[in-house]
Amino acid sequence: MSTVFNWQLGRDMDFPYGAAYPDHQFAFIFNINRCIGCQSCTMACKSTWTFSKGQEYMWWNNVETKPYGGYPQHWDVKILDLLEKANPGGQTWDTKKPEDRKAPYGKFQGQTVFEAAKLNVSSEGAQKALGYLPTDEEWAGPNRFEDNPAGAAKGQKGKYFPGGETLPEHKTWFFYLARICNHCSYPACLAACPRNAIYKRPEDGIVLVDQERCRGYRKCMEACPYKKTLYRGTTRTTEKCVACFPRIEGRDPQGGGLPMQTRCMAACIGHIRLQGLVQLNPDGTWKEDRYNPLYYLIHVAKVALPLYPQFGTEPNGYYFPPRWVPRPYLRQMFGPGVDAAIERYVNPDRELLAVLQLFGKDSRICFRYEIKHGPKIFETEIHGKKFEQYNDTIIGYARDGTKIIETAIEEPIHVRDAKHANSI
Ligand code: SF4
Ligand code: SF4
Repeated sequence: MSTVFNWQLGRDMDFPYGAAYPDHQFAFIFNINRCIGCQSCTMACKSTWTFSKGQEYMWWNNVETKPYGGYPQHWDVKILDLLEKANPGGQTWDTKKPEDRKAPYGKFQGQTVFEAAKLNVSSEGAQKALGYLPTDEEWAGPNRFEDNPAGAAKGQKGKYFPGGETLPEHKTWFFYLARICNHCSYPACLAACPRNAIYKRPEDGIVLVDQERCRGYRKCMEACPYKKTLYRGTTRTTEKCVACFPRIEGRDPQGGGLPMQTRCMAACIGHIRLQGLVQLNPDGTWKEDRYNPLYYLIHVAKVALPLYPQFGTEPNGYYFPPRWVPRPYLRQMFGPGVDAAIERYVNPDRELLAVLQLFGKDSRICFRYEIKHGPKIFETEIHGKKFEQYNDTIIGYARDGTKIIETAIEEPIHVRDAKHANSI
């Protein structure tokens, strides 16, 4: 084991390989508050990458209904349970002294999947990452428990809260959790592969499986805590999300040579997704890039949080937590930054409101934004705090400086001529 620094945990941790980081890292943000569970992303991915024989049950992108849904079934509950058994009562955070960028959420005091694995010794030796291999049945339904909410009270099956729902927490609740491979900085799939078939690209941090080297031992499936490597029976190899790498490389003809967001991001009906390439420092922390939208949302506004950071893989998928969901559930899923993130999201300041407009506006990757100030158009109070809205304009630029987005906060209103009132 080597020692590497995991900024999401605010500390060093054990990892089977020494530290090595790409120049840029593929990363994305999903705003769960806006996901409508339409599965357009899922189908955009399926029709691009997994429509062939042997891939029938393979969903690189999936959207599951929490708290009961999961693909594979109960994947996160099972990993959390294994970690809890390995370190009973110890999976906690010290949030007293968060330091910017080196420990934005505080310091994780528990054990990661790599650290807890040392104790999990079988006849094959210790695991590289604590995990389990899902059964075939668990992979069978990507959308089981769709739209099933958690009930108002424990043990009262089928009973909803009768009093009407109000924020900050709904009594009867569910939410859609859209997921793809997180192209982790410390991939458990890569760590566990006995064939060294999994690699992380130095130019963009995308994690890929070399199909020539893979022998289908499924150690990656056992190790990935997010269960995002999938077995293909017809080739007897593992396949996974490839981050639509030809688009990232600017090879999709539609992008005119500019890097484009993945198919699932571009197809998103709810405009919940924003994907980019962020610059890294030699120690793996994010290079300060103040006007990159992902840098701003994750490191400055801190409204987007990693999914299960305590697993220790340093996932590069980030989420705006759903604001109506009970906080203990969200803290377990996104770490201790949840309360502050929701507070900022429900009452956004001028810059945050402008940056939120970048989601879903253009398929090309936005590397930088600037904001042109406009007049104040609205004022109110949100949860006891003053909220002011300005009609600012945000402009987004591609990697080569091409302007790809220009949009104002206030949407223009077009009044249809009375003589065309009923025509399309
Ligand atoms: S999410 Fe899983 S499959 Fe993807 S890079 Fe991380 S460990 Fe590997
Ligand atoms: S396309 Fe967007 S809104 Fe629809 S399910 Fe996927 S992430 Fe959610």
